Amino acid sequence: MSQVYRSSRSDDPQQKLSFEDVVMTGLAKDGGLFLPSEIPTLPSNFLTEWADLSFNELAFNILRLYINESEIPSADLKDLIARSYSTFRSDEVTPIKHIDTNLYLLELFHGPTYAFKDVALQFVGNLFEYFLTKSNAKKAVGEPKDFITVVGATSGDTGSAAIYGLRGKKDVNVFILYPTGRISPIQEEQMTTVEDANVHTFSVNGTFDDCQDIVKQIFGDVKFNEKYHVGAVNSINWARILAQQTYYFYSYFQLQKAQPNSKVRFVVPSGNFGDILAGYYAYKMGLPVDKLIIATNENDILDRFLKTGRYEKKGDSSVKATYSPAMDILISSNFERLLWYLIRDSVAEKDDAKAGATLNSWMKQLKETGSVTADKEVVAGAKSIFDSESVSDEQTIETIKKVYESHPEKYIIDPHTSVGVTTSYRFIAKDSTPVYISLSTAHPAKFSEVVNRALDTIPGYSFEKDVLPQELKALSTKQKRILLIDEASIEKVQQKIIEILNF
Ligand SMILES: *Cc1c(COP(=O)(O)O)cnc(C)c1O
Repeated sequence: MSQVYRSSRSDDPQQKLSFEDVVMTGLAKDGGLFLPSEIPTLPSNFLTEWADLSFNELAFNILRLYINESEIPSADLKDLIARSYSTFRSDEVTPIKHIDTNLYLLELFHGPTYAFKDVALQFVGNLFEYFLTKSNAKKAVGEPKDFITVVGATSGDTGSAAIYGLRGKKDVNVFILYPTGRISPIQEEQMTTVEDANVHTFSVNGTFDDCQDIVKQIFGDVKFNEKYHVGAVNSINWARILAQQTYYFYSYFQLQKAQPNSKVRFVVPSGNFGDILAGYYAYKMGLPVDKLIIATNENDILDRFLKTGRYEKKGDSSVKATYSPAMDILISSNFERLLWYLIRDSVAEKDDAKAGATLNSWMKQLKETGSVTADKEVVAGAKSIFDSESVSDEQTIETIKKVYESHPEKYIIDPHTSVGVTTSYRFIAKDSTPVYISLSTAHPAKFSEVVNRALDTIPGYSFEKDVLPQELKALSTKQKRILLIDEASIEKVQQKIIEILNF
């Protein structure tokens, strides 16, 4: 089977885009997100045949179904996967950990920046380099080379994971903007101590929203784009969703070994809906998932959608700053992909082009009015596999404490993971027959302030001793390269980028 891609907002029944186009452009020209035209089918015996595969072998089998051999031959794909996950500190890449009766954590934080985004961004960085190297090898002498200038804004996690994914990659430059004084010290150290010449971090005198606005303006600057080939690595990039599918399969198989014949529910701390969407693809492909449970903090647009059928920004349209900042969003950008499937599957003829047209009108309405109401069938489709809960800061703290005090090894979870674990406990209270795999999206050392707030009063607890890994501790002694942008303006940022690229 040959895999092609289309935009979620396209009404063209014939649209056929390549994997390379989709990865290198990120967002479709019509503003939509890219989708595979077919959900691949798994081998009929995958539940036995794949059960004992390593993480890398599973990744290969899954990715192979979405990327044509003609675009990336098998030997190359295997090499890309091996290089991407060789940077992880766990041999299993994403191991599961038993923390309570019928409750397991899926530890996604063993990559270079100690957060789940590494699983996807280590692979994306290698993909960028692979495609650029391939196209440049075909160029005649003297012909200009292909390259990409990645520009992104971060409130902490995305920036460091992108930097560690792209550092040292040929024909790639990366510029990450973050708000001065508004990210955690460890996050700043992670980003500013990387020595590779293609990595640049700008500490911008402003807020995260200012940084994001500047990045959006840069993407909208046609002339600048033509010259510098601006690219994105944010969570709407299809390659990120694709790479994240592996750990749903891997943890499913690990769990069946620990507790055979378990009915499995995944609980996912969610913001932009990229992580849990990968679970939805695994489910659509045929992984026996009982439920996918969305765990949100007080920025709860996803939870409200499932409960009311309205996808709606909150009245005052501002993001609430919570203890789980990587999930502080108004709108979940990847939710659009789910809506496309729900719309298409809710009508008998399963027409891709019609689904695109409907979604396009919904997205317009959302943009204009801040709200869109889904048809009953669409909401029913969502509820058949998804469920949700929203968790307060106070409960986030309580659960960190509860897990620490009840676990024999005094296991410590980060606040994002805690939102998921709190949600898991609520579901276990309602139905304790399934086994819950709660995704652990960051190492607690990255969010020291909240973790300390939860545990500081407990005798014997020490952040330095119990939480902080040597490798992160060592960062504080390294030389930081901080480039201050004294005013949050697109002119100042562009000027600096041009000066650095020097062409
Ligand atoms: C990005 C992030 C999330 C949210 O993932 P989405 O794909 O945006 O839903 C959760 N936890 C941590 C630590 C993150 O960095």
